[in-house]
Amino acid sequence: MEDYRQDIRDIRKAYSLIKAFIEKAKWKADKPVLLLDRLYQKTESHIKLAANKSVTTAKFPPTEITDENEETGYPAKYASRDKNNFEEFIERNRDEYTDFLESNNVDYQITIQTTYIQKKVYYFLAVTNIHPQNKKSSDKDFIEYSVDELPEPKWWVKPLVKLKFDGWKKWLFILSPAAIFIFFVAGFYYYLKIAPAPMYFIGYLSLVVLFTFIYYIAKPFYLTLDNSIAIVSNWMLRISQRSGQVEMHYLDVKDSEGYPVREIRLSIYSAKCPICGGSVFIDNGKNEFKGRLIGKCRKALTEHIFSFDHISKKGRLLR
Ligand SMILES: [Zn+2]
Repeated sequence: MEDYRQDIRDIRKAYSLIKAFIEKAKWKADKPVLLLDRLYQKTESHIKLAANKSVTTAKFPPTEITDENEETGYPAKYASRDKNNFEEFIERNRDEYTDFLESNNVDYQITIQTTYIQKKVYYFLAVTNIHPQNKKSSDKDFIEYSVDELPEPKWWVKPLVKLKFDGWKKWLFILSPAAIFIFFVAGFYYYLKIAPAPMYFIGYLSLVVLFTFIYYIAKPFYLTLDNSIAIVSNWMLRISQRSGQVEMHYLDVKDSEGYPVREIRLSIYSAKCPICGGSVFIDNGKNEFKGRLIGKCRKALTEHIFSFDHISKKGRLLR
């Protein structure tokens, strides 16, 4: 099992901390820092490119991340040298770095990783735990989730993949359930007292049907206000996807009232079952797990059941 995580929120945090630590340690090495910066900027622009892009596919060839180009010759060699220098710097300052991270309440660090795709090397950022001995990756009771990259969404899903709430959109979202309720009460009163015509009643009924339909679409988005994550209906997903979630993200931007701007995003969490290796998807818990989201293994739906914490992305066997 891979011992790193690729989660943009952790990567952002770990990146800002390593930058602060490099500053603090007065490390003067342009090239390795440049490699790190380029990788970070590339990763950020990769996920900004489209709402369905995941950080797990933010992988870049040496030519895109080093200063050296075709003229100077060896991007692959330089990228590898800069990566090694970066890792040596971390190892040299291991104790101070660990203390620094812990004083910031973080137990993970940023790392530069490589992988081979069709025999070509690619670089990417990931975070790893600073205390690997504490990690129970061999333990069959523990599971780690990651966010999948979404395939190109269907056209009717596109506007819902990423919803940013600021200004009037925020108020529309908050006030529309009350407005619709008042509209229906007023409409029914109007029918009873003022215009009791059958045609009017049919119109009223079709509005009820329409708004019931909208209610089923909008419900998961409203659930994220309470729980910050909810399961979406299957019509938003592709057939190959067993389950999807909408998740509330707090952006770094503040609105005019000083609150962080919120954004609801479609994400799909998955994991590999630590017991049988089957794929694990997220579902609403039933019976004793009612009110919780849980991870279920496709190969053993009722037995390989795990808790799901979307903040830590960890879980443990529940049965
Ligand atoms: Zn399983």
